[in-house]
Amino acid sequence: MIPSRFELCCLPTPCHRLPRASARLGVDLWIKRDDLTGFAGGGNKGRKLEYLVPEIQASGAEVVVTCGSTQSNFVRQLAAACRMIGVRCEAVMMHLPYEPEYGKPASPGPHGGGNMVLNELFGLVSHVMPDGSWDDLFAAADERALRLRHAGQQVCQVAIGGSSPQGAYAFWQAAQELDMSFDNVVTATSSGSTLAGLATALQGTGCRVIGISCDPEEENRVDVLRLSRGLADTFGVAPVLTDVDIRFEFAGEGYGVPSAVGERARRTLAAEEAILLDSIYSAKAFAGLEALVAAGEIQGRTLFWHTGGTPSIFAH
Ligand SMILES: *Cc1c(COP(=O)(O)O)cnc(C)c1O
Repeated sequence: MIPSRFELCCLPTPCHRLPRASARLGVDLWIKRDDLTGFAGGGNKGRKLEYLVPEIQASGAEVVVTCGSTQSNFVRQLAAACRMIGVRCEAVMMHLPYEPEYGKPASPGPHGGGNMVLNELFGLVSHVMPDGSWDDLFAAADERALRLRHAGQQVCQVAIGGSSPQGAYAFWQAAQELDMSFDNVVTATSSGSTLAGLATALQGTGCRVIGISCDPEEENRVDVLRLSRGLADTFGVAPVLTDVDIRFEFAGEGYGVPSAVGERARRTLAAEEAILLDSIYSAKAFAGLEALVAAGEIQGRTLFWHTGGTPSIFAH
C-alpha cells in the first residue's frame, strides 16, 4: 500500500560535498540537508508529518495529543501542521525526561526559548511537567488523552517523535532521493524511525548505515527493528531489518544534555562549513562520525544525514 501524502516540505533536500571537512578528516564527506526541509523551522520531522497528517485527518480527530521534551522538534512541527488542518494540538512535555536506569543527568538541559518560542507561535497547548522518567511522560500523555475522550472529544494520539510506520516510510522514501552511491550513511537516532527507514531502504546496497544514538538506552535498537517490521506489515516494504548498527557511546550524560565532543564538533563545523548543528542530536551524531573516521571504521564516500534541530540552538 502506498500511504497518502500531505505536502509540507521542499523536497528533495540538497545534498552536497563538504570540502573543508573532507580535507580535515581524510574522507569524501557529503551532507544531506534535512535541516532544510523547509517546513516550520526545518528538520527531519517534516518528512514524517507528510505521512502522519493524512492519518490524523482520517481519524476525524478534533485534538491531537503527543509528548516529548520541551525542545522536541517533532512537537514544534506537529503543532504547525495541526494549525494548517484546523486541529488543536496538545503536548505533555518535560524539560529533561530521562531513563531512571541510567540516572538523571547532573548537567542541566535546555530551559526555555528555542522550540518553546515556536510552539507558542504555532498555538500548541503545552502541559509542562516536572522532570521525570520517560515512562512518567508517556503515562501523563495517555492520561491527558483519556481525560479529553471522557470529555467527549475525538482524540488522535501521535507517537513520540512521529515514530510510527508512517514516519519510517517517510525515510524509506527519503533514501530514494540519493542519486549517487555512498559507502556509509551516518545519522542521529532517538525515537528510531529516521534510522529504520534509511537502513531498511539501503540494506543490501553495499552502503553501511550507522545510527548515532542521542540517548544512552540500548533498547532503542529494539524500536528501530520494530519500526522496520512495521514498514513491512503496513506498507509491504521489505526486507525487514534483522540487525542495525547503532552506537551508544556518543550520547554523553544523557538525552538533551550537550556533550563535550558534540559541542566541539558544533563549533568546528560552523566555522569550517557554515553548517549549524544542534546540541541534542546532530552535534552528537557528527562527533560520532568524526570518531569513527579517526578509528578507521569509516572510510570512503560518506554521507552525514543532517536531521535539523536548528531552533534548539537558541535554547542553550
Ligand atoms: C527527532 C530528531 C532526531 C532523531 O530522529 P528519530 O527519527 O526520532 O530517531 C534527530 N535529529 C533531530 C534534530 C531530531 O529532531
